[in-house]
Amino acid sequence: MSILFLVLLTASCQSAYLNSQKSPVLLDIHQESDENAFVNLKNFSNDFVFDMKYATADNFLKEKVYPCGECFLRVKTIKALLEANKAFMKKGYRIKLYDCYRPLAIQKKMWKLVPDANYVANPKKGSIHNRGGAVDITLVDSLGMELPMGTAFDFFGEEAGHHYQNLSQEVLDNRKFLKEIMLQHNFKSFDSEWWHYNLNNSAADKVSNQKWRCAD
Ligand SMILES: [Zn+2]
Repeated sequence: MSILFLVLLTASCQSAYLNSQKSPVLLDIHQESDENAFVNLKNFSNDFVFDMKYATADNFLKEKVYPCGECFLRVKTIKALLEANKAFMKKGYRIKLYDCYRPLAIQKKMWKLVPDANYVANPKKGSIHNRGGAVDITLVDSLGMELPMGTAFDFFGEEAGHHYQNLSQEVLDNRKFLKEIMLQHNFKSFDSEWWHYNLNNSAADKVSNQKWRCAD
């Protein structure tokens, strides 16, 4: 293989990667022309708390399945999320993120570890996380403390569902607060998981399998 060919091959592959390198200045999401492009949330705001669980072993798989802890999403999803976070901040809270875009290859890996549709979406269909339209989130207060939501993230049981009412009033109020603001900002909730929100109409988007380029 010639050096030139290798250079060309590398150059063409690079465009298919999502880059974890942070931009030196904050960018304006409204300058992005392609609503469906994938971008990195941290380049557009310093106001989120990141706790990307699948980039650590602190998740139900007990395995690190992401190469680095990034929150990539489609431009339109980020626009909605930025506005939702502004609304939470007006009331003294911020969004903490557990999961965003999940490449299909990683969905397959998760399925291999836990081939149970109650816990992991079957990669044959793919989930909204694979489409760049879903976020797993909670809220933190001004000190960065998570609001009580009744269960941990990825707790698989009825207690995690929106219909489950046998919880303290504080927990019910927190879940309601999270849901109300998210629904006002073009997201919809997911009945069995209090932490999961899908951008409206994102099920129509294509499943995506982009690799991440992680900064050292
Ligand atoms: Zn989710």
